[in-house]
Amino acid sequence: MLPSRLAYRAGATTLRQSRTISPITLGTQQSRSVSVYGYEQAKCLTFPDYGEPKDVLKLHGHSISPPHRDLVTMRFLASPINPADINQIQGVYPSKPTFTTNMSSAEPLAVGGNEGVAEIMAVGSGVKGLQKGDWVIQKAPGFGTWRTHAQTTADPLLKIENHEGLTPEQVGTVSINPCTAYRMLKDFVSLQPGDWFMQNGANSGVGRAAIQLGKLWGYKSINIVRKRETGFEEMKKDLESLGADIVVTDEEMADRSMREKIMEITNGGREQIKLGLNCVGGKLVNNMAKQLSEGAHIVTYGAMSKQPVTLPTPLLIFKNISFDGFWVSKWSKNNPEEKKKCVDEVLDLTRQGKFHDTPMQPVHWNIGTKQQELVDAVQGTLEGYRSGKGIFVFGET
Ligand code: NDP
Repeated sequence: MLPSRLAYRAGATTLRQSRTISPITLGTQQSRSVSVYGYEQAKCLTFPDYGEPKDVLKLHGHSISPPHRDLVTMRFLASPINPADINQIQGVYPSKPTFTTNMSSAEPLAVGGNEGVAEIMAVGSGVKGLQKGDWVIQKAPGFGTWRTHAQTTADPLLKIENHEGLTPEQVGTVSINPCTAYRMLKDFVSLQPGDWFMQNGANSGVGRAAIQLGKLWGYKSINIVRKRETGFEEMKKDLESLGADIVVTDEEMADRSMREKIMEITNGGREQIKLGLNCVGGKLVNNMAKQLSEGAHIVTYGAMSKQPVTLPTPLLIFKNISFDGFWVSKWSKNNPEEKKKCVDEVLDLTRQGKFHDTPMQPVHWNIGTKQQELVDAVQGTLEGYRSGKGIFVFGET
């Protein structure tokens, strides 16, 4: 998708260009290495072919020359490791990365990562609307964000108008999970204050965003999380502190007694559960669908269990439950203005303390950070029951 629009500068190979004078202090909190004559020494987490992250990811270095004409040079501040990034590396995600030799590599390489925030370091003479010091995110997935620096035109970038009071981690994770939750709550059924929605994967980044946005808009939520050996009560309290009304496990959801419980909390069924959000798939979706009101919609956005959704036909015939899907990549591409509005609104809420980012496990990426540390962090994303989303936080690079 977008990477074909990128214009990486071919690496400079002379000794003069690659000599570094470092570190120097930049305007923001970090220091970094910079080459003479404004050449940046970029490092990228790349893959030459699809496969398991631990088998295919390699740290690759190249030089970036000063930007001219319509090019900007930027340095990344924070880039999350999302489940879809792993699927993309495995080659099972519909949005394919661009494999290119533009980063001075012998073989074509793709850069991992689809989300992140970068700071503009320098702009070419023909660039309009962006200047040094601006923060930018990507308009759509596909950019390749696991890298210290990049050079591109302004086209794929969305400027953050005001990053005052926000951290790179907050801005770097705003565009995928919160926008997905936002649109799913708004675009499939007309929820009114007091209406309920139900979701599985409620402790995921998307799930947490849905709880908070739903609460702000007056919707009540039933939240399903996977049963775990330890820590359920803590997680329940955590989700309740975000605004969750009810938190149950997937096992409780499968129990016959759930019908009675749902009738109780929805005031004998008089309060409607019009929407279900599906992050997980499998049998859990049947158990959710059984509890929804007639004519409700279930929106599938993830498949974390890798189990298919198979449905008893009475749910379709007698309850007229509708099944929809949502993909934020396609929505962002088709609705760039709406996407910007959504990002601005969530960042405003974040600044006001009304929206809290998902728990994160920072992976610090500095000049000396070894390939293995970065690869391990990506591979670790495949494990369940994590205490937070992995995120590369760039320091001295
Ligand atoms: P997070 O990394 O924040 O959370 C992962 C979630 O998945 C946790 O709730 C985790 O539960 C659960 N999980 C992990 N493994 C399993 C498993 N084997 N069975 C059931 N649940 C599991 O994820 P995100 O919020 O970033 O993404 C969640 C899903 O949504 C992903 O599939 C992602 O690709 C998708 N997504 C889709 C979008 C779209 O536009 N369609 C946009 C954004 C995300 P636990 O803590 O119990 O391990």
